[in-house]
Amino acid sequence: MDSVRHLVVGAGISGLAFADRLEGDDYLVVERDEEIGGYCKTVRRDGFVWDYSGHFFHFRHPEIERELVARMADQRILVVQKDSRIWYADRWVDFPFQKNIHQLPQDELVECLHDLYFRAEAGEGRAGEPSSFRDMLYAKLGRGIAERFLVPYNEKLYATDLARLDVDAMGRFFPHADVADIIRNFKDSDNASYNATFTYPEGGAIEYVKAIASSLDPARIQTGERVVRVDLRRKVAETTKREIAFETLVSAAPFPTLLSLCGLPCDEDVYSWNVVEVFNLGFDRKGPAGIHWAYFPQRELSFYRVGFYDNIFGQDRMSCYVEIGRPRGYQTDERGREATLARVLSDLRSVGLVSDHELVASHHILLDPAYVHITKDSVRDVEAKKRALATRGVFSIGRYGSWTYCSIEDNIVEARALADACNVAARAG
Ligand SMILES: Cc1cc2nc3c(=O)[nH]c(=O)nc-3n(C[C@H](O)[C@H](O)[C@H](O)COP(=O)(O)OP(=O)(O)OC[C@H]3O[C@@H](n4cnc5c(N)ncnc54)[C@H](O)[C@@H]3O)c2cc1C
Repeated sequence: MDSVRHLVVGAGISGLAFADRLEGDDYLVVERDEEIGGYCKTVRRDGFVWDYSGHFFHFRHPEIERELVARMADQRILVVQKDSRIWYADRWVDFPFQKNIHQLPQDELVECLHDLYFRAEAGEGRAGEPSSFRDMLYAKLGRGIAERFLVPYNEKLYATDLARLDVDAMGRFFPHADVADIIRNFKDSDNASYNATFTYPEGGAIEYVKAIASSLDPARIQTGERVVRVDLRRKVAETTKREIAFETLVSAAPFPTLLSLCGLPCDEDVYSWNVVEVFNLGFDRKGPAGIHWAYFPQRELSFYRVGFYDNIFGQDRMSCYVEIGRPRGYQTDERGREATLARVLSDLRSVGLVSDHELVASHHILLDPAYVHITKDSVRDVEAKKRALATRGVFSIGRYGSWTYCSIEDNIVEARALADACNVAARAG
């Protein structure tokens, strides 16, 4: 039987960032896919560069960005001032919606403002603190703003009833705004958000992954090998190829998958998520200029967001990603894919993004899971079970391993903190 001190499950950004930070080389990364990268893979087709839907980077830790960039000497890193918009009533409104209601038709502005001001009297949300994500939208922003954008948009994205989600389901990614912010923005536009500028390597998101993996011994990353069982008592992982004894197992697999690998119960009611169906599309000519991505709250449109790589790269052919929120369990086949693509193209035409364009290249992927449904129960259960697993030397990290909403930088921070703790423990003997 093979044996290793640190067995890492998953060669996405989290697993690789953990291995990169470890002292010594007593580790092995096993990855079920044939390639490293997880959700940060990049596809190149007919001159187009696409990720698994838009993956743009907003670093909060300049030292992490500097370190990654230093390892990407061959890359031009684009720094882009974000232009994100909402398609609303046949016009573009700046994002976030709640800070730009002055761009709506006048009667709608009046209604949004009225509902915002009198939301408490109208009993929006429920009495006391809001108890769900849906309640929070009404309680903080009033019915007009909630029902025109925030509720329909997020229902399309999450593909679930927003009353199921925790108040803080989007964490720092929700653009909060109070009455003063909203009214101030009427005059002095300030649409600052967590991602007001973003960076993007010309080779796509995979370049960040390659930068992290560049310090690792390729022989210690095994692709095409899936972990199928973990024996917690013997501290042995069974893969599709062999058995591996470990001291520490670090998993970036989705948390419900890890529970099942370890033979632990996973409550179906506690763990739910959406699937995002992504079409990357390349056309023969330019689309709308300037916009980096756009939000579509209309229930009759298939997609909730469309992004434009050509406006990031400065290209003259429209290159876009289209995201569709699907409920958990969604699957499709070639016929289903073709039918959805036809619907997407028709919807793109109906909002004027495509006219006489010819589609010259496309790519399709299902991200499953994509956005986990964060609820009070899921937060409690993940915390308790992660603590219990840690006592057996099993650590779950990453966006899906921690069952949360976060960025790749957050993944790096979390993975490094765990590696630092492992290094301290190893030094102490
Ligand atoms: C639609 C969408 C848009 C996003 N946009 C952005 C963005 O713009 N900016 C940003 O910073 N972040 C973005 N993210 C988040 C980002 O994708 C994740 O934070 C990051 O990719 C998570 O990396 P990870 O290593 O934790 O997980 P993953 O990338 O999921 O990696 C886990 C790896 O584990 C492997 N694995 C699973 N089970 C097994 C097994 N049994 N055996 C072996 N291997 C296994 C998988 O194949 C995978 O490679 C976005 C996410 C989504 C869904």
